[in-house]
Amino acid sequence: MRNLRATSKDSLNGQPISPPKAQKIDDDYLCQVSGSVSCGACCGLYNVANDSRAGIEALLAARSRRFATTPRTVEDILRFRRAIEQHENQERPLSDFHHCPYLGLVGPRQETVGCLLHPLEPLNRGLDFRSLSHYGGMTCHIYFCPATRLLPARYKQMLRAVVMDWYLYGLLVTEHRLLQAIFEEIEYRLNRPVFLDDFREHPEACRALEDLLGLRIAWPFRPSERAQLVNYFFNDNRHPRPVISPPAGEPNIERYRTILQELETRTDTAGHLRRAELYLDSQFRFLQECLQS
Ligand code: SF4
Ligand code: SF4
Repeated sequence: MRNLRATSKDSLNGQPISPPKAQKIDDDYLCQVSGSVSCGACCGLYNVANDSRAGIEALLAARSRRFATTPRTVEDILRFRRAIEQHENQERPLSDFHHCPYLGLVGPRQETVGCLLHPLEPLNRGLDFRSLSHYGGMTCHIYFCPATRLLPARYKQMLRAVVMDWYLYGLLVTEHRLLQAIFEEIEYRLNRPVFLDDFREHPEACRALEDLLGLRIAWPFRPSERAQLVNYFFNDNRHPRPVISPPAGEPNIERYRTILQELETRTDTAGHLRRAELYLDSQFRFLQECLQS
């Protein structure tokens, strides 16, 4: 999560605050989209015991209320961290992926995921307190996740325009392999590149794409033991997605291998992979029809 390109790793933080007039947030900037949609995935947003929307919202809101009454001194900010860590459940799906206690809700209506230590937060009065965090100020300032570099601008623009839900957006945005494979499949079916204008001209296609992207949360073929949604996307690849292969005696995967793998499709049940392929097929076919109507 992050903010303005001009201050770069404001990448570890989606700030909701408007940029100074001379700065411009590019229309393919992934960390912050609007006053209600931003990303905090690289600060460990989803690496919490209760990763439901309601659970994360409650967590961030409680922190933000508490931080609003925290004096801006080094001692008090560090005391805030200790208090948060004492009061909140510290069990993590990924124990080696830091979850930052300074992640909260920011912005005029306190409804955007963002960094409570960021200098653009009004109560910080222009001071950057991110040096007090686990990663340190420099990392918080300069880090950008792989998706920000690897996805083509047109894919990023479509993602920003179509996903209106912060919870889904933050879960999707780091999924560069999944997103690349989904957009490539759409382009393969249309036999041409797709652009944001395609979706502006076809509102129904917009909804169909949002449904397709929503499978990141609602994928019905994920094994129950992989219910937690956190994605480890750092370059050291410490938690790769399991490689999928069909059970003995079943045909090989015909299509959608990357999508099936990135969605963590279960393979231990007879016919499961084939049903998952057919499910994806119908979703893509509907989207294709919308775009061609
Ligand atoms: S995970 Fe990526 S998109 Fe999200 S805030 Fe971090 S750098 Fe930005
Ligand atoms: S201080 Fe925490 S919330 Fe803020 S950018 Fe750094 S890791 Fe993210």
